[in-house]
Amino acid sequence: MIIDLRSDTITQPTPAMREAMFSAPLGDDVLGDDPTVNALEAKAAAMFGMEAALFCASGTMTNQLAIRTHTRPGNDVICDYLSHVYQYEGGGISVNALASVSLAHGERGKLTPDLIREHIYNPNDSHKPVSRLVVLENTVNKGGGCYYTIPEISAIRQLCNEQGLILHLDGARLFNALVETGEPTEAYGKLFNSISICLSKGLGCPVGSLLLGKADFIRQARRFRKLMGGGWRQAGFLAAAGIYALDHHVDRLKQDHSRARKIGAILNQLPEVQEIYPIDTNIVIFRLPETILAADYVTQLDAKGIRGISFGKHLVRFVTHLDFTDEHVEKMASLLTT
Ligand SMILES: *Cc1c(COP(=O)(O)O)cnc(C)c1O
Repeated sequence: MIIDLRSDTITQPTPAMREAMFSAPLGDDVLGDDPTVNALEAKAAAMFGMEAALFCASGTMTNQLAIRTHTRPGNDVICDYLSHVYQYEGGGISVNALASVSLAHGERGKLTPDLIREHIYNPNDSHKPVSRLVVLENTVNKGGGCYYTIPEISAIRQLCNEQGLILHLDGARLFNALVETGEPTEAYGKLFNSISICLSKGLGCPVGSLLLGKADFIRQARRFRKLMGGGWRQAGFLAAAGIYALDHHVDRLKQDHSRARKIGAILNQLPEVQEIYPIDTNIVIFRLPETILAADYVTQLDAKGIRGISFGKHLVRFVTHLDFTDEHVEKMASLLTT
């Protein structure tokens, strides 16, 4: 039994999800007539109170399309230093959007109105780039799966309104936040100009992310998707998995969170674990002493049949997911503590 906690992207489609995929009606999405893609896009947009949606190959693509569509060359994007759009998208902000980045250093990767305000340039100062877009991440991956609440986001929205800034959400794990806060999805459409959500993470789909926003914005993003070679044909196979996941795999995320907390309790008993980040959702990050490199520790874990990833010189990350069961938790406890 391999315990694979490298990421929540490693899940296999369930038999019922495969069934939904195989029986999906298909068309040519580039021509706009794949009925399953259209149904997924309409469903997700309605769910979040947005006008339209665009189904894409990855969360990197949906984030990058959003940034590309919202900005012009020479604009500046404000995000946290820990954010995925900065750390893990190949420098795409500069490549795809020809935009610069201002990095804030929030608590566990979370921005506040004050932090954002510090990074807004004076629009009358011609030395400076034009501050244009703020990107939030919810939950924050590198912050250990911490999340924003709607009041926190509303305060940021208000600042953006005052300053004429656009607000994008990298919601790769947004549903993990929402099952914890109990907040309604529809409220999100009013808070953000655009939202990216991943279907291939906790929701258990093999592939796919959605970009949500106003109809005009999505029309423009669809042009850029084509330009990047991201137009796809009978993508309904993949969209069917997404529809299935939105119907069946959201509420169960709570189980992933409770199993993550159980992992925290196991780690708590290990002498080499110096610190465990608060476990708010499905991500567990812990710190090793200066004498142990995370990369070496991960190799040792691997030999025991436990897979995690090195998340910094002395940090290790585990992510719980659909294919990680109570049985795995028990096995993990016996492997690590005996
Ligand atoms: C996984 C992830 C993405 C998107 O990743 P892809 O692998 O490109 O789908 C975006 N943002 C965050 C925070 C993520 O964890």
